[in-house]
Amino acid sequence: MSKKWVYRFNELDAIEEYVDGSWDDVRGLLGGKGANLAEMVRIGVPVPDGFTITTEACNEYLSLGEHLPDGLWEQLTSSLSEIEVATGKTFGDPKNPLLLSCRSGAKFSMPGMMDTVLNLGMNDETVAGLIESTGDARVAYDLYRRLIQMFGSVVMHIPDGKFEEVISRKRKEVGVKTDTELTGEHWMAVTEEFKNVFRFHTHHHFPTEPYAQLQMATEAVFMSWNGKRAFDYRNAAGIDHKLGTAVTIVAMVYGNLGDDSGTGVALTRSGTTGEHRIEGDYLTNAQGEDVVAGIRKTKDLSALKFEMPEVHAEFERVAVLLENHYREMQDVEFTIEKGKLWMLQTRDGKRTSQAAVRIAVEMVEEGLITKEEALMRVTPDLIDFFFHPQFDTQAMKDAAEDDKLLATGLNVSPGAAVGIVALDANLAQKWAKEDGKNVIMVRPETRPDDVHGMLAAQGIVTSRGGRTSHAALVARQFGTPAVVGVDEMDIDFTRRQIRVGNKVIREGEYISVDGTTGEIFLGQIETKQPDIKDEWLLKLLSWADEFRTLGVWANADYPVDATRAREYGAEGIGLCRTEHMFMEPERLPLVQQMILAEMELQRIEAIKALLPFQREDFTGLFRAMDGLPVVIRLIDPPLHEFLPDHVSLVKELSDLKIQLQHAPNLAVIDDLLEQVRVKEKVLARVELLREDNPMLGMRGVRLGNHFPDLPRMQVRAIIEAASLVTKEGGDVRPEIMIPLTSHVNELIFQRELLEVEAKKVMEEQGIEISYKFGTMIEIPRAALTADQLAEHAEFFSFGTNDLTQTTYGISRDDAEQGFLIEYMVNGILPENPFETIDRDGVGQLMKMAVEKGRKTNPDIKLGICGEHGGEAKSIALCHELGLNYVSCSPFRVPLARLAAARAAIAGKK
Ligand code: ADP
Ligand code: MG
Ligand code: MG
Repeated sequence: MSKKWVYRFNELDAIEEYVDGSWDDVRGLLGGKGANLAEMVRIGVPVPDGFTITTEACNEYLSLGEHLPDGLWEQLTSSLSEIEVATGKTFGDPKNPLLLSCRSGAKFSMPGMMDTVLNLGMNDETVAGLIESTGDARVAYDLYRRLIQMFGSVVMHIPDGKFEEVISRKRKEVGVKTDTELTGEHWMAVTEEFKNVFRFHTHHHFPTEPYAQLQMATEAVFMSWNGKRAFDYRNAAGIDHKLGTAVTIVAMVYGNLGDDSGTGVALTRSGTTGEHRIEGDYLTNAQGEDVVAGIRKTKDLSALKFEMPEVHAEFERVAVLLENHYREMQDVEFTIEKGKLWMLQTRDGKRTSQAAVRIAVEMVEEGLITKEEALMRVTPDLIDFFFHPQFDTQAMKDAAEDDKLLATGLNVSPGAAVGIVALDANLAQKWAKEDGKNVIMVRPETRPDDVHGMLAAQGIVTSRGGRTSHAALVARQFGTPAVVGVDEMDIDFTRRQIRVGNKVIREGEYISVDGTTGEIFLGQIETKQPDIKDEWLLKLLSWADEFRTLGVWANADYPVDATRAREYGAEGIGLCRTEHMFMEPERLPLVQQMILAEMELQRIEAIKALLPFQREDFTGLFRAMDGLPVVIRLIDPPLHEFLPDHVSLVKELSDLKIQLQHAPNLAVIDDLLEQVRVKEKVLARVELLREDNPMLGMRGVRLGNHFPDLPRMQVRAIIEAASLVTKEGGDVRPEIMIPLTSHVNELIFQRELLEVEAKKVMEEQGIEISYKFGTMIEIPRAALTADQLAEHAEFFSFGTNDLTQTTYGISRDDAEQGFLIEYMVNGILPENPFETIDRDGVGQLMKMAVEKGRKTNPDIKLGICGEHGGEAKSIALCHELGLNYVSCSPFRVPLARLAAARAAIAGKK
């Protein structure tokens, strides 16, 4: 017996048995469309009868060199006769013909697959039969001509315009504006002409034998799996070429039988806002693709309530049925035939991030899903988009209606970008940097020497490449919206323009790029900033807080950032970097004076002058974080960062010396000499401090130990500020963090020195402050000797950026602009270790540090303050490692709360 290639919609049980019950495999076998049609039949949704030919049949057909596998045709015809019995109509019967649609459907919906052919079974005999049974020649010939048109264009690849020409000629001839005004006689004439068009282009007669039509359409679907467009799309999107497509054959229902008939598409909830209300468009007296084709203006589904109240009520019943079953918002296609509603497709609906959050929350409140499920449904990415500027949905709709949609490609890096087109990296950089313009860089593909232009651009578009192309990786890396693989787009470098179909955009003209949907529009589309106080988001995040065990803190240097972080739900400051404060204009001269001082006294004076500034900084931070811990890191970067740059100093000096040679008089000479002396002094100091590898040089705790007055001043500022705020009645919890420790003695030495200062200040102030000392773990040696460090630290904070640099021996800035992207494109590294913590290397070191640290100091608090602390996969790792908290940028706090909850939920399973 041959294999079962064909399954009726009501044979879902048999399929489940065959694939062992997994819904994923059912979809794999029947395609998404076929699987869901069968599922709808099972739950009692009205679906016209039909069957699906499996993806296995497609694969077999292709591997046999385009031959139908054994037994397929017999199974198909026997399924068809069952449908004939059920519907009381017969395929090809001139009196009461059954008509069919032939539809493609792979496991994942993908462009490039064959379009649907409706009305299979129409021919000169059946058209006559239909006229007799319906008494309506207009309907009958409309169905017939649609078949020739769709069969001609979809199966035989005749340009659709050839058919449309005939229709518009007819309209002109008759003197009417719309197709609906054409009569049966007109359509009959059109049908005859269509046959001629068909013959002219294919050198064959239109196949009038219904079974021949069915076989040709079915084989065409199979072959479309290997069509160029489908093939390229799969390559780009990373879909397996071995999956194959299914073919679904459905008994036709007719939306064009009059004003009590129609066809449309709908979402069971709003895809824009998530509001619980059916949203859709329909057309009365129309068939199939008319709604999406945009030939006639569609009606809002709410109008159905007045036009056909019973159908509307039935629709609402079906929507509830579908949602209760799928427990997801559904995107459906339907047809109304003489007041009866038929569903023709359902799938999970696409939605904005706002809608995703609201739908998940409301489904919990409706009892459809659990809180855990809601949290697992809303991915951290969605929360990320939530806070990105987005295109206004209405503005996007309007643009699409105005024919402003230029092209669609792969949505590889989310967000909205508007700018002028620049066709090369240098121009992109020039326009952005020098002229302050917003630029979209458009290239066939990108290479490492394009990175400067990509960094300067608001958005990136390439005509080639897939999800792991250089352009996609760089864009995601830098959070730049990007669309790649826009294969309909031609870039013409001679004329400096891009072309899609008949649309031409010259370099320098505006386009809008939606990296979230992959759409590219002509002109400038309005963007809007999303609402952070969204009630559904707040609710979802409050549920996240119920489940997560990991604390979420924020990295903030200034009180405003701290306040924002708190608003977003941060439970502490995990990293306050003090060096930014040193860079401010009124302080920098003091910092420089401190570094350049030749005499101890000068240095002490400069440091003293800095003290009030630092005290003020910390006071603000403590007030903002009243009742919550604040980790302040002592000075970390090498001192040369605060001094003028070496190259410019040398150049300024040589300029001065040239001026000196041409000096007109003594006074000028004196003045110039004085300038030279000052500059030479600075230069000498800069040269002394200059390092070949500043990243591994005099910085962090090394600097603190070498130059103890500086951290001492910082500790004084911290404790003085803490005293001040405590006296105001505040609850202050300072934690002093020592950076870049590699040997325990560094920590011991530094800490002793600073404890003395802290005690001194508390005595002066007559107050006890409870503070902590801890260290960063950002050097492998620190992780390896964490048991020793833990005896002298009350907390560890993983500085995973430096820890990654030192573990890999890679300098991040050099790598990300250079070989790192190449590594990712070539698959040498699966992901960027500076974005997601490298589990096997850095993760191992962290694990070791956690275990060793807790062994000698069970109470030690463990956190992470590297950027990884705001990245979902790294947060999951931190949860697994049992850290106490993650600390990230204030804007990423909501994402981190969700990611931490998801990690906790996943861990329970
Ligand atoms: P796509 O994947 O492009 O949406 P579909 O196979 O879903 O293609 O069908 C295209 C259009 O034809 C849809 O509007 C669908 O509802 C309609 N259609 C498909 N089969 C039938 C049928 N048997 N009766 C009536 N309309 C149908
Ligand atoms: Mg469809
Ligand atoms: Mg560091």
